[in-house]
Amino acid sequence: MDDFSVTVLDTGYCLQWEPVTRRAAPARLARFHATCFLIRHPARKPVLFDTGYAPHFRTATARWPYRLYACVTPVTLGTPAVQQLRRMGLHPQDLEEIVLSHFHADHTGGLPDFPGVPLRYLEAAWTPLRGLRGFGALRRGFLPDLLPADFARRSRPIPGAALSALPPGFAPLSVGVDLYGDGSVWGVPLPGHARAQMGLLLRLSGGDLLLGADAAWSLEGVRWGQPPGPLAKLIFDSATDYQRSFAALSDLHARRPGLRMLFAHDPETARLAGETLR
Ligand SMILES: [Zn+2]
Repeated sequence: MDDFSVTVLDTGYCLQWEPVTRRAAPARLARFHATCFLIRHPARKPVLFDTGYAPHFRTATARWPYRLYACVTPVTLGTPAVQQLRRMGLHPQDLEEIVLSHFHADHTGGLPDFPGVPLRYLEAAWTPLRGLRGFGALRRGFLPDLLPADFARRSRPIPGAALSALPPGFAPLSVGVDLYGDGSVWGVPLPGHARAQMGLLLRLSGGDLLLGADAAWSLEGVRWGQPPGPLAKLIFDSATDYQRSFAALSDLHARRPGLRMLFAHDPETARLAGETLR
């Protein structure tokens, strides 16, 4: 599987009070990058995992009440994922699909740049958002205008029944969905931050890699068992589920310190921007 790799794309950042993102962090404003990932699979067309920020974030937050989102998280846009792919010689139509970890706007911001590309996500992530507009959507970090008009037609939601046992070595994570049927990429439920959030487990030749989305905001936090501060819980779908997912990752990291883990907003992930992991 020589041509099986993951490239880190950084699409911009917002400013956040650091102790919100990690308990015991220094009291200061920090850049909270929005990364997404290009996966090159040996037997499939390239896959994008999340889409980060893009200029559409500005238009989707231009009107009330969605403007509040941009006020709470002041965003500095970077180079959108679609442009970064273009520099690599890839166009939207070259993609197999976009896998979405969850529907927060910092993960769906680039969706309008990828017309026609199929979308995959855990079905239960979408169910509570269906039809939500205004404050109901905002409360869940969801900006409906970022979803394409043909969202339903392009969607390939993953039903709960598709989950099966993960290969050994990832306990206490136990179930996932074998996305391409060859055991190379597993979608792994990491609920709590958002309903039915999904991370990816990639069995790269250089070692396994877990893309943990927002199940933690830093590997440092996972390493030292420091979850986000209490304020962060206000935006979580379920603080109890979050704690359970976070504890499972901490436990997994303690058992396998060599297992690579990247979280979407971790400064350590942003430092890898442009790099390709194998
Ligand atoms: Zn996020």
